[in-house]
Amino acid sequence: MHSTTAHIEKLKAILYEIDALYTAASILTWDQETYMPAGGEEARARQLGTLERLAHDRFTGSEIGALIDSLAASENGLPPGSMDAALVTYVDREYRRLRQVPADRMAALVEHGAATYPVWARARERNDFQVVAPHLEKTLDLSRELAGYFSGFDHIADPLIDFEDPGMRVAEIRRIFADLRRELVPLVAEIAQRPQPDDRFLHRGYPIAEQEAFGLDIARMIGFDPQRNRQDLTLHPFMTRFSAGDVRITTRFLEHNFSEGFFSTLHETGHALYEMGIDQGLDGLPIAQGTSAGFHESQSRLWENLVGRGRDFWEFAYPLARERFPDPLGQVPVEEFYRAINIVRPSLIRTDADEVTYNLHVMIRFDLELQLLEGSLAVRDLPEAWRARYLADLGVAPEGDADGVLQDAHWFADWIGGAFQGYTLGNIISAQIYEGVLDEIPDLPGQIRTGEFQALREWLRSRIHRYGRIYSPAELLERVTGGGLDSEPLMRYLRRKYGELYGLG
Ligand code: ZN
Repeated sequence: MHSTTAHIEKLKAILYEIDALYTAASILTWDQETYMPAGGEEARARQLGTLERLAHDRFTGSEIGALIDSLAASENGLPPGSMDAALVTYVDREYRRLRQVPADRMAALVEHGAATYPVWARARERNDFQVVAPHLEKTLDLSRELAGYFSGFDHIADPLIDFEDPGMRVAEIRRIFADLRRELVPLVAEIAQRPQPDDRFLHRGYPIAEQEAFGLDIARMIGFDPQRNRQDLTLHPFMTRFSAGDVRITTRFLEHNFSEGFFSTLHETGHALYEMGIDQGLDGLPIAQGTSAGFHESQSRLWENLVGRGRDFWEFAYPLARERFPDPLGQVPVEEFYRAINIVRPSLIRTDADEVTYNLHVMIRFDLELQLLEGSLAVRDLPEAWRARYLADLGVAPEGDADGVLQDAHWFADWIGGAFQGYTLGNIISAQIYEGVLDEIPDLPGQIRTGEFQALREWLRSRIHRYGRIYSPAELLERVTGGGLDSEPLMRYLRRKYGELYGLG
């Protein structure tokens, strides 16, 4: 027993060191994507590569290996189901996984991602994919190399997806996506036959300072805490955790688009609430993070959509919005506003897409990612493949690359593979969770109508957030919903909401 305690303490001491390295890297990345002047690019990529190499070396070194071996033995004395036992299980699995990748190759991948991000930003500004294409060629090579270190998978993307959504595989995702698509495509077509509301007022002038203030007002009401959070501007919004007491979000505002800035603030706040809700005792350990990309998205999308795009929510928030934006909104009744923010219309930008067409954007990216990794699509043909898929699936195609293949930062800051399926898994999970929440808090709509979010936040914290990575995504889903992934609650929700909005039979 004594040696178990000593070993677990020793393990944690090493994990805290590794956490310091990864946190330093996260701060450098956050800085790169918010404030860093262009002159810092080259050094920043090198610094991030170095931190990755040090952290990777430490995590896959023989010291952790020996501790894990002794702690993972059945007679280790760790109480089953305890946090320490969960930590050992998690570190054991990650140790075995990451040991397969040489530290200098992982560092090369991270360094290349950090070097690519600013080039992507310039390419996007110039609306020209060719500016970043050579970088993306190398990203694809490195991504395939990374996948190649792992064996026992059916598809080249499987090990890469497993990093983001542990346990998920291409075959299963394809099946889930095909089921969902079969339901979504006719719904989109049905809605397209119906008259559209007028949403032009959402694209009039919304002063950016006021947008920022309004977004933060609402974020505070749902749980954003200025003592533990801050918000900064970036090109592509994200959330990042440095510790339990310092979780940051970023956003972007467009003067002529109310929805983009506001809903991305709500979205990132949902991510932040997840990280802030993780048991503080786990802080500094690798299990102190959301359990998967899909679960993380379930939290951001729940606040953004199931709450934030609902009629109940705007009954409370609309008077506040009107105070901030008397000119565009003063004459617009709340019902008209509600219909406008929920307009279903095939569009080019994923982050600004409505709830019905959103998953079609994700499926395009997922399929293109697989084709790149499989070698059936060349990087140089990507913009054209993108346009063709948008035309086929959504009936619209971008004129330039900025609204097309360059719109998302993912492939240009990280590796290719596993970056997108989590968005749709998140939408599916969010609807499954919300059905359970409504069963247990029947008065929730009434609470939301008065701007009261504590019961919902607390429900999510106690059932999901607090556990961090103690449970795998599948275990957590089973605990929360009593079952596995099921897209039926999402479709029920979409059919009910948009059936009413568009008067569908
Ligand atoms: Zn998100």
